[in-house]
Amino acid sequence: MPEVKVNEERCKGCELCIVFCPKQVLQLSAKFNSKGYHYPEFSRPDSCTGCAICGWMCPEVALEVFK
Ligand code: SF4
Ligand code: SF4
Repeated sequence: MPEVKVNEERCKGCELCIVFCPKQVLQLSAKFNSKGYHYPEFSRPDSCTGCAICGWMCPEVALEVFK
């Protein structure tokens, strides 16, 4: 099953990964990182196809996709 690992500290909370995920797998956490940004959570893993669009969209290179 694919997995997306979020490097929480790199995230700037722009939400591009959430918007561009075709399966609505990611959602913004209620928690903050140390810079004060909300970061995404891998909230619906069963729906993830491993397409890696989220990783390509992230300007901070905060996401790693494992197939
Ligand atoms: S790999 Fe694709 S389906 Fe999975 S969270 Fe990223 S954009 Fe969504
Ligand atoms: S695209 Fe990257 S910086 Fe933007 S919310 Fe997602 S993980 Fe954070």
